[in-house]
Amino acid sequence: MKTVSSLLDEHWRERYQKISKLNIRSSIYDITNQCNLRCKGCFFFSSGEHKAASEEKDIKKWETFVDSEKQRGVNLAILIGGEPTLHLDRVEVFYKRLPTFCATNGLIKVPRDKFPDMMLGISLWGDEEDEKILRGKDTFSISSKNYEGDPHTYYLYTITPRQIGKTDRIIGKIQDVGLKVHMQLLSNDEGVDGFFWKPKELSKIRQEMDTMLDKYPNTVISSKYYHEIITTGMMLGWSFGWKECPSVTEPLDTRDPKPKRLIHFIRWASDLKAMHRCCTSETRDCSTCKDGAAHMSWVMVNKRAHMRSAKDLQNWIEIYEMFAKLYQFIPW
Ligand code: SF4
Ligand code: SF4
Repeated sequence: MKTVSSLLDEHWRERYQKISKLNIRSSIYDITNQCNLRCKGCFFFSSGEHKAASEEKDIKKWETFVDSEKQRGVNLAILIGGEPTLHLDRVEVFYKRLPTFCATNGLIKVPRDKFPDMMLGISLWGDEEDEKILRGKDTFSISSKNYEGDPHTYYLYTITPRQIGKTDRIIGKIQDVGLKVHMQLLSNDEGVDGFFWKPKELSKIRQEMDTMLDKYPNTVISSKYYHEIITTGMMLGWSFGWKECPSVTEPLDTRDPKPKRLIHFIRWASDLKAMHRCCTSETRDCSTCKDGAAHMSWVMVNKRAHMRSAKDLQNWIEIYEMFAKLYQFIPW
């Protein structure tokens, strides 16, 4: 039988040991239904998730809720919305109790005296031109001033088909402001013309992402195996989609047979009672889903399947490390 020890040399065994102890149990929380932008293709608004529940406004109820989430075993709170920084009192409830990651568009500066080491992921949807088309403004010019040099912040760069050939300049700009970057692909939930992926474009962007990782190893947080998985939607010969997705809210998961999945994962709406189907759009056709975190988690929950060769297991380790870095379980 193949074991971790028989497949890995000492260097990889050490890397494996660092992540094998982590036992990450994440859930996702809508902090608010409001946002200070309205991006075309935002999964939250386009799927009507902002209308799924009315926001809980009593901060005491947020406190009781987060305490019960901690009791439920959650050790990573991922805050989304809407725009979480519009309600920093709610963000603080999580931050004081749990390891917390906050997704933001970066337009509001989170005060570091109150949140000294909270990891922030700033959304970026391409170059100035794409951002103006899709989000109504060039957010980078504001967010990069707010967070220049911040050691607990990275850009979550959503790449569109129109970014092919342009990622070098954008990643260079991110490097110049002293921040890190993680890449994912646009799912185009609102069908904006010119932003659908064609197979040839996916193969080109895969090569480009590989080149960016080689060129900016201290800025880009990624792995070539991750690039392969998100651009092909394939892992070890299996296709990603509803039947395989690990990021489905556990109490709503009626799939039979059950795939390998995130244990106790729930995506909570902002009334702290309703649940959404999964980590992203309630209404997205899973066969078109490019969600980066869902693809990463798909790899992470399937360790055993990656124990068929040393290379497969190393690929698995690299993706786990990438996830652990993005959520601050191990250093960059
Ligand atoms: S900033 Fe984020 S939450 Fe707000 S509209 Fe854009 S994608 Fe949606
Ligand atoms: S939309 Fe994506 S993340 Fe959601 S259930 Fe489908 S495949 Fe999973």
